[in-house]
Amino acid sequence: MKKILTIIGARPQFIKASVVSKAILETEGLSEVLVHTGQHFDTNMSDIFFEQLNIPRPHYQLDINGGSHGEMTGRMLVEIEKALLKEKPDCVMVYGDTNSTLAGALAAAKLHIPVAHVEAGLRSFNMQMPEEVNRILTDRVSNTLFCPTQAAVANLEKEGYPFVMANGQKQRIEKVGDVMQDSAELFATRAVAPKDFNLQDGFVLTTIHRAENTDQSERLQNILEALHEIAAHTPVVLPIHPRTRNRIAQLKLNTERLTLIDPVGYLEMLWLLTHCGLVVTDSGGVQKEAFFFGKACVTMRDQTEWVELIEAGANELVGAQKDTIIDAIKRNLGREVKDTEKLYGGGTAAKRVAELLKTIP
Ligand code: UDP
Repeated sequence: MKKILTIIGARPQFIKASVVSKAILETEGLSEVLVHTGQHFDTNMSDIFFEQLNIPRPHYQLDINGGSHGEMTGRMLVEIEKALLKEKPDCVMVYGDTNSTLAGALAAAKLHIPVAHVEAGLRSFNMQMPEEVNRILTDRVSNTLFCPTQAAVANLEKEGYPFVMANGQKQRIEKVGDVMQDSAELFATRAVAPKDFNLQDGFVLTTIHRAENTDQSERLQNILEALHEIAAHTPVVLPIHPRTRNRIAQLKLNTERLTLIDPVGYLEMLWLLTHCGLVVTDSGGVQKEAFFFGKACVTMRDQTEWVELIEAGANELVGAQKDTIIDAIKRNLGREVKDTEKLYGGGTAAKRVAELLKTIP
């Protein structure tokens, strides 16, 4: 029996874990201990996902959130190490690119416990992003690199991977597909409208939460002004991340024409993705979800890790210039896109991850 200790802590990690933890449970020879760092803690940023997606209750709740990046990551490192010493897992699994990811990977690597990284090899090539630092460092100390795309595999190869690890063996690079496609497919039939939602289909669905947009007031202001102009003709729905809500209040930015709603559960988000006419976002996960639901996407960033969507013409990168955003929204509204090449594996990634975890040395 292989004991996997999984670290989760932020919203997208709950969604990824919902399918991988299920696959682990269904795979003979594997058991899982879940550790929730507490990075996201509000009911609608954490609890709701455990309820809606039947994620097992975490064995450890570390309740670590807030503070600077260094403080948060450091406190997680201390507490995760305690859990690892107690549980003695065969492998530590981490997801994505948050502080919880890096803390989990680092704690395990220092104890010579093999690390498996789901979403390995993604790069924005922008070292100012905290996520980029987290993913590069996590990849380097991971024994198994579960890559979602061919581009991710190519990034690792260009950087000289695979490297020899503490156990004397080379890292394993495995292209498994994207576990978020598995979750979108698994839960799509259970999609539900957000409470009291009464807009007609075809609205613009938008999310904003990347630090590069919320922390730079000019960028946030440009984005909101662009969305405001669009909202004069087409409703713009914004389930608002707590960080963005705080910044908008602080900067006293005008949102009166926008349909602002609290962050929604995943099932409501899937409903919004099904019924919208366009996705406008700076989220990593939501760019792909637009594609899974056949919607074009306008991405308000200067780089994306999901380059295959740009190459396929499904996604347009527009940065944070007001006129560029408006122009791209007008051109893409209502445009349908098709996944003809199964860019993300077609919904079998979680099963592949579980099968490969069985063969961890
Ligand atoms: N999401 C959600 N409710 C919301 C906004 C987003 O369930 O109000 C989901 C979304 O569908 C996707 C995930 O959260 O599955 C993306 O997380 P986020 O944008 O916070 O992080 P990123 O993907 O950028 O790391």
